[in-house]
Amino acid sequence: MPIAECKCGQPLFANNEYCPQCQEKNPRSTVGAFGFVPWWGWVCVVACGAIPILTMGGALPGALGFGAAAACAGISKRPDWPIAGRVAACAGIVVAAWVVFGVIALGAARLGS
Ligand SMILES: [Zn+2]
Repeated sequence: MPIAECKCGQPLFANNEYCPQCQEKNPRSTVGAFGFVPWWGWVCVVACGAIPILTMGGALPGALGFGAAAACAGISKRPDWPIAGRVAACAGIVVAAWVVFGVIALGAARLGS
């Protein structure tokens, strides 16, 4: 049973995160933030999630890692972006997250010495 109808008239199901016809986001979708993430999206999610694992927690690395991971997951499945653009954006987020983490780690090391 469709749970909603898109603006374009396409019936939307709970597992349609995006309308298959016009690619509008389905507001009643039950797909979570990490649902339907492609394999390369998971690579980026794991690469970002490794930051708080490496530091064994901490508010700053945790927020950085999970924020970047969620951003990668969201971008990786956007139907309105070409796949090359999504891969590049996710890779950019991973690099940016690790650069920010490096700056934080360097700062913490200097404070500690
Ligand atoms: Zn639609």
